[in-house]
Amino acid sequence: MISRRSRWIRFWGGTALGPEIACSKESDILIIDEISMVSHPGLDRVNAILKAARADPRPFGGLQVIVTGDFYQLPPILPFEFCTRCAAKCDPDQYYATKYTCGSCRVQYLDAHNWAFSSGAWQEARFLHCQLEEIHRQKDDRFLRVLNNIRAGRQLDSRDENLLMYSNVDTKDAVKFMSTKQAVNAANIEGLASLPSPEKVEGVGWVVGWVARKRGS
Ligand SMILES: [Zn+2]
Repeated sequence: MISRRSRWIRFWGGTALGPEIACSKESDILIIDEISMVSHPGLDRVNAILKAARADPRPFGGLQVIVTGDFYQLPPILPFEFCTRCAAKCDPDQYYATKYTCGSCRVQYLDAHNWAFSSGAWQEARFLHCQLEEIHRQKDDRFLRVLNNIRAGRQLDSRDENLLMYSNVDTKDAVKFMSTKQAVNAANIEGLASLPSPEKVEGVGWVVGWVARKRGS
């Protein structure tokens, strides 16, 4: 259970931790969700910042760290912008930007090494692994098989394709995937226009007020 004293830390590739890290001295546990999107340098940076902020040389400054996520899901977004050895700026290779070379010490980084589990911080942490195997979002065994094949990048067989293409299902309120922002905007405008209630725009002030009221309650 997360207590009311818990704090959320903005975490975007480890670059936007902000002043909240100063709170780390009062904390006992750091939970990082969606670990697949945290980059190798990002996790190393958090490790270094916590050690310095807590003046403690142990991994993550002695904080208990729990990371959750699925490495089959989204990869880190930020590339190797800076060298993890000497902090100089890295340059992407000219054509595909899948390889980065440090402008100073010339060490090279590959996109394939950008996962958090490739970082020194991950090795230092010596995490205990827990694999959650029970699936709660889907009960249809046939569909589960298809989803697992897609997740693992396995070729779909004809049974899988038939299930996806010819099942008799109600897709009226289903999530839609679109390939362009233009199509997304058009669908959003159509959806908003179909709402029966009048349009009402609330500013950030309302959100801040709501959070303050919740805290006070
Ligand atoms: Zn370097």
